[in-house]
Amino acid sequence: MTAVTLPTTAYGPLNRGRAPLISMNEVSQTFRGGQGVPLTVLDGVSFTLYDGEIVALLGRSGCGKSTLLRVMAGLIEPTGGSVEYRGEPVRGATPGVAMVFQSFALLPWLTVMGNVELGLEGVADQERRRRALDAIDVVGLDGFETAYPKELSGGMRQRAGFARALVREPDVLLMDEPFSALDVLTAENLRTELLELWSAGSFATRAMAIVTHNIEEAVLLADRILVLGDGGIKGELQVRRPRPRDRHAPAFHGLMD
Ligand code: ADP
Ligand code: MG
Repeated sequence: MTAVTLPTTAYGPLNRGRAPLISMNEVSQTFRGGQGVPLTVLDGVSFTLYDGEIVALLGRSGCGKSTLLRVMAGLIEPTGGSVEYRGEPVRGATPGVAMVFQSFALLPWLTVMGNVELGLEGVADQERRRRALDAIDVVGLDGFETAYPKELSGGMRQRAGFARALVREPDVLLMDEPFSALDVLTAENLRTELLELWSAGSFATRAMAIVTHNIEEAVLLADRILVLGDGGIKGELQVRRPRPRDRHAPAFHGLMD
């Protein structure tokens, strides 16, 4: 497989002046495949996630989207290339980055509260509780603190998944097909709500990347779309300027089309 070099500069001006949050430099990931045949999933991927933007990573099943996201989060160390978070090399899980998973990844033996508090390991009890309640409130799950995952609908489980990520007040939120296990209407509602909450500054995350194989979802949600395939980025589309947000991007007010 050959890496594809991207015309990233074509869209440079839209991100001018924005701080790079996560930079991937020629990142490669080769797994030991079956029968010892190495499987190169990422082959020299380079891109930067900038402050203020929502990027969608679009690609077929099996093309390496989840792998790329896990490398971005520092959950796996790439076999080649490097990842930087705010200009510093990433080593291990990055504290400023949180993830939301397709399968929600809630622990069934813990309540909503217990699951959300997991996002704050090491934080003192009282503060952890207060922040967990805040996050549960933001995602609209107040009243369900003591419910167990099995008592919740899919949409509510994913709300808990979002609360567990947001409770950490991450700079970057990485989402791996967060809506694809939900029915169409629930997915649409959650997606819209996520965008509204973020635009209103209801949570302090500065940039988001969402993995999806749903083109419509990518267009609706993202400012920029990267198409993955054959181990590399096959194309890039700037959908719109990063949206201004009330608290975090005042400099961009008045610059919208
Ligand atoms: P996507 O999220 O786009 O569906 P993944 O990143 O999950 O793709 O996987 C890409 C490829 O890498 C798949 O063929 C998958 O089987 C393989 N893969 C992912 N993780 C591992 C692993 N830990 N060990 C071996 N192969 C893996
Ligand atoms: Mg995946």
